[in-house]
Amino acid sequence: MKTAVVTGASSGIGAATACRLAASGYDVVLGARRIDRLEAVAAEFGGRALPLDVTDPGSVEAFVAQVEDCSVLVNNAGGALGLEPVAEADDEKWRAMYDVNVLGTMRMTRALLPHLVASGDGHVVNVGSIAGLETYDGGAGYTAAKHALLAVTETLRLELLGQPVRVTDVAPGAVETEFSIVRFAGDEARAAKVYEGMTPLTADDVAECIVFAITRPSHVNIDQIVVKPRDQARAQRVYRSNS
Ligand code: NAP
Repeated sequence: MKTAVVTGASSGIGAATACRLAASGYDVVLGARRIDRLEAVAAEFGGRALPLDVTDPGSVEAFVAQVEDCSVLVNNAGGALGLEPVAEADDEKWRAMYDVNVLGTMRMTRALLPHLVASGDGHVVNVGSIAGLETYDGGAGYTAAKHALLAVTETLRLELLGQPVRVTDVAPGAVETEFSIVRFAGDEARAAKVYEGMTPLTADDVAECIVFAITRPSHVNIDQIVVKPRDQARAQRVYRSNS
């Protein structure tokens, strides 16, 4: 059985992707910091839950040491913190966003690449965002990180040319997960407003795209999937039935 590693699998897109990969016949290893949540997700389909903080090199090392082989790596752990304009930017939030979205992906990819190459049919899927393709008011810390992540994804594809490893960027628009609750530091009312009067994507809509890319024949590389709700034309250009 082929092994797939999914980071940030304790909720949202990562949890839905882990579930779909298991249904597609993968042995799934799930990583995230909230181990109780992770174990509950893994128990739904018999996956393996291992603690992982992608911002901590020691945690990445300990996680990878328990993964004997790997043919799919879904770098999904990530998110946004705050929506302040550049004039009020918080160094710590910017550092944390860069760390989880960019360095975290680099650390996991670097550590698992030997397994991915050795599998003879490896695949790295990086969960980017439309924030990696455009900019929006108050989003600079996050859009800068996701733009950087896309640069990493595209560089990796160049560097792996000739090796048996595919590289895909999946760039969603608005998905209703814990993303906005985390962005607004637990303010659920503010988070709910993001999706008010519109129909956002579900985590499973995005998981389906990720697993579509992975389950193509191994000579077919889906470079990029941009997926948005019908109600969203750009990051902050959203149709709302209530306004
Ligand atoms: P979510 O429900 O908040 O899930 C984020 C996941 O990342 C959680 O499982 C969280 O688990 C994990 N995570 C956060 N920091 C981590 C760390 N340092 N180490 C390991 N895991 C970590 O949000 P989501 O929407 O599913 O987000 C998944 C990805 O999609 C992110 O990369 C996000 O930027 C991207 N995305 C989301 C949207 C959207 O609108 N929701 C749109 C475009 C792109 P723990 O807290 O348990 O560690």
